[in-house]
Amino acid sequence: MTAQQQINDLLKFIDNSPSPYHAVQNVKKKLEGFGFTDLDEKQKWALAAGGRYYVIRDGSSIIFFVAGVNPLENTGYKILGAHTDSPGLKIKPNPVNNSDDLLRLGVEVYGGPILATFTDRDLSLAGRISYKTSAGKIASQLVHFEQALLRLPNLAIHMNRKVNEDGLKLNKQNELPLMISTMVEKQLSSSYFCQLLEQQSGIKADKILSWELNVYDTQKGVLWGDQQQFYANSQLDNLASCHAGLQAMLNDQVLASGNTVLGAFFDHEEIGSESIKGADGSFLADIVQRIAFSMNVEKEDYQRALAKSFMISADMAHAYQPNFPSAYEPEHKVMVNKGPVIKVNANQRYSTESISEAMFIDWCEQVDVPYQKYSHRTDIPCGSTIGPMTSAKLGVRTVDIGNPMWAMHSIRESAGVEDHFYLIKVLSCFFADNNAF
Ligand code: ZN
Repeated sequence: MTAQQQINDLLKFIDNSPSPYHAVQNVKKKLEGFGFTDLDEKQKWALAAGGRYYVIRDGSSIIFFVAGVNPLENTGYKILGAHTDSPGLKIKPNPVNNSDDLLRLGVEVYGGPILATFTDRDLSLAGRISYKTSAGKIASQLVHFEQALLRLPNLAIHMNRKVNEDGLKLNKQNELPLMISTMVEKQLSSSYFCQLLEQQSGIKADKILSWELNVYDTQKGVLWGDQQQFYANSQLDNLASCHAGLQAMLNDQVLASGNTVLGAFFDHEEIGSESIKGADGSFLADIVQRIAFSMNVEKEDYQRALAKSFMISADMAHAYQPNFPSAYEPEHKVMVNKGPVIKVNANQRYSTESISEAMFIDWCEQVDVPYQKYSHRTDIPCGSTIGPMTSAKLGVRTVDIGNPMWAMHSIRESAGVEDHFYLIKVLSCFFADNNAF
């Protein structure tokens, strides 16, 4: 695929993935088109060398892999990690607020979004609901309201005269509930929300028991710039890295390499990764070990395989924005469309060390992909990624990289078309590399 085709595919992927649950379904669909089959953690596994598989844990984290024909103890695992979640707003358990002739939905803040960017957008809802079936079982279903449904109107400047001097500050409890309707009859408000879900999902309101629903922006992704060299959408952090990793693996050369290649996309990165399906939980370690044991690799050979393994932790990076020069480390300005960024931090907020860094540079050079190095300003605290925790848990050498982007954690982020293409190229080179570490 050309850079243009990859970007169009990415924008479509994001438009169809308004929640991590939807993102995982779309990854799964793509994998099935390439002959990957479903593994259930509750069942016994019988893996075949050369087989293609995926495992989903709790709907919003997925690990997919090719069981290599090359002995695992010779090649190790080649792992690409990323995350499916993005910061934003989630609907509360008792969401309906019926006052002043208006219905509003209460929300909780998930992770660290730029809240001001959620105002005056055409918002809607997507996620999963759980319900009781007619057979008395608990089941869940994805739900996606496609039309604009919700809004957080700004206060007019006439009532907030200093907004341009002081910035838009929103009280998280009082000033985030989202408008949905003029008031309905008082007695209806307790069942109102489940009835709304029934209309969309077809599941009877009185059977709906619980939900995890994201507020998302209905505006579709676009290309922009005089040469259409940039793109914008929600959730670039980190669905762009998920898409790049997936496209990189679904490549003839990688699939024919005989390597054990693995993609791991986790939910809950934005809130610290400590959960049943997060990168700081057992998911990756469980699956990596199970692959080895299901293929009759002995314990010592499994440990040898880990020692020979390599992980690329892909998460977006902060591109230089020239309107705000003082926010950046002057010698580490990373530019959009100048290639993937290697993230380095002395305090191991990023897992990169000089050997993993050098190896990534080597893969870039092998396929003529430019690269950049990023260090955060020393006087501003640095963010982190899933890299340090997965590396620590597995004992696998890791590098933290990612494409440069503007406005990280805004509801509308943007980045460069070329960079996405570059990242796919270098990740394919990494997966297909037959030189064991
Ligand atoms: Zn991220």
